[in-house]
Amino acid sequence: SQNKQTLSFQAEVAQLLHLVTHSLYSNKEIFLRELVSNASDACDKLRFEALADNALYEDQPNLEVRVSFDKQARTLTITDNGIGLSQQEAIANLGTIAKSGTREFMNRLSGDQRANAAEQGQLIGQFGVGFYSGFIVADSITVESRRAGLQPEEGVRWTSAGTGDFEVEALTRPERGTSVILHLREDATEYLSTWKLKSIIAKYSDHISLPILMRKEEWKEGEDNKGGEMVPTSEWETVNQASALWSRSKKDITAEQYTEFYKQISHDHEAPLAWSHNRVEGATEYTQLLYIPASAPFDLWNREKKAGVKLYVKRVFIMDDAEALMPVYLRFVKGVIDSADLPLNVSRELLQESRDVRAIREGSTKRVLSMLEELARLEKEDSASAEDKAKYGKFWAEFGAVLKEGLGEDFANRERLAKLLRFASTQSDAPTVSLADYKARMKDGQDAIYYITADTLAAARNSPQLEVFRKKGIEVLLMADRVDEWALNYLTDFDGTPLQSVAKGAVDLGKLQDEAEKKAAEEAAEAFKPVLARLKEALKDRAEDVRVTTRLVDSPACLVVEGGGMSLQLARMLKQAGQ
Ligand code: ADP
Ligand code: MG
Repeated sequence: SQNKQTLSFQAEVAQLLHLVTHSLYSNKEIFLRELVSNASDACDKLRFEALADNALYEDQPNLEVRVSFDKQARTLTITDNGIGLSQQEAIANLGTIAKSGTREFMNRLSGDQRANAAEQGQLIGQFGVGFYSGFIVADSITVESRRAGLQPEEGVRWTSAGTGDFEVEALTRPERGTSVILHLREDATEYLSTWKLKSIIAKYSDHISLPILMRKEEWKEGEDNKGGEMVPTSEWETVNQASALWSRSKKDITAEQYTEFYKQISHDHEAPLAWSHNRVEGATEYTQLLYIPASAPFDLWNREKKAGVKLYVKRVFIMDDAEALMPVYLRFVKGVIDSADLPLNVSRELLQESRDVRAIREGSTKRVLSMLEELARLEKEDSASAEDKAKYGKFWAEFGAVLKEGLGEDFANRERLAKLLRFASTQSDAPTVSLADYKARMKDGQDAIYYITADTLAAARNSPQLEVFRKKGIEVLLMADRVDEWALNYLTDFDGTPLQSVAKGAVDLGKLQDEAEKKAAEEAAEAFKPVLARLKEALKDRAEDVRVTTRLVDSPACLVVEGGGMSLQLARMLKQAGQ
């Protein structure tokens, strides 16, 4: 028709479509999860917009998703009565990559990876490709939609064969919402089956809080009583549990369901390390379902990164990435918090000021720390499985450096955090030494926990500043994370024992030094007085002081920082940062 326009996909989309159709064959069925999840998102959006404008519900207040198929036409259709798409939205949202994660994925595919289909499949699985996954099973897709609040004539039909371009045309559509019609490929006939579709929905979409409806089937005898088949009737039935996972009782939820829910909200392909699901009662009532991921996302280091906790109020989705619900140093936590007290129209600004939110954040922080303490406990539990024992180490390797930020950020929990810290040391190459382990191994007469910071663990390990400690068999913690220096400023002692940098001031080994050593040092200081005076004079613009030390064994000299001063490492960092 006249009003039909053909538009090109954004270059990245075309590339992505090629990858999707060529490398996701091993896990085809995820397309349904993605499309049902979009339908559910669309309903969440409608519910949210309708808070301000109830008329958007029109005459259909019950939100739902319908999945149906037509064997003759070889089409599979997913319909929702959610927010719908205007023509502009269809062009913008279905023709470009809006999701930053997907864009990142495309950027990440280096030349080598582009050539390796298996790896592409893995990567795609990691990021999730959303709507475009329909092209795994369809050789063309038609989307028919009308946005809530627009006139029936303002609908849109979007069609594409998943190659370079797509078409849009105007459509009259009385019903609000969206139908995604997949024209199935020859090798995707298996999805024209109620049984198959139901089993995929049970696997991936059971926890969706909306009802997912399919047509009831009945048995129809074949001609002359030969053969027969199930055929759809005009009656619809709900095929999922249709209650939000977190609102169910713990005992009714399996580990698989928890894991599947995690994968859906996090876009992570790996199972989480741990989760915690609780209904909190008292002055502030809420339900929390929080997960610790197994691997760090690519943007973990970005402190501006969106938080991973979704906020619901009485089962109504309010917002993603509600940063007020979790401290920044726990930004790796994913999950859902459903409050019984907050108003439905709560804004981000209001969240920042709400007492309820503060209580939720404190409660959730404690819950996460408990989860971590439990993983740390399992690490040392003889009866734990090898998998469970490995969890805390895995967590620490991925997120330990982020957790350290908490020392400076969360004073109230500093002691709990200190117990969760792990370090490499002169006695352990792996970062597995806790401060308690260290204390248990301290020498008689040792009254400080010694540590050294450097750019790399190797540099720390080879520092001349360690010589005397090595000679005396005193363990020193080695630190090379960028945050160590800053974080350690906030941790002056552990369980009554001070932490001391071996690179600061005159290291006083106290009782660890015997009388003969002290005497030798004093005598040397006396004997070297003239030399020291000349060195001080020569270095007067560069060194504050020059002194004889007992800390070196093999090296003739080393640099240290005044006791109260910035460490070399911090000074170097600031210099790099141009300060
Ligand atoms: P994501 O869901 O992560 O945003 P998708 O690729 O799955 O990414 O979907 C892209 C966009 O297309 C969505 O953000 C949304 O704007 C739009 N969209 C997809 N499906 C629907 C739907 N059923 N109803 C309304 N909009 C939709
Ligand atoms: Mg999606």
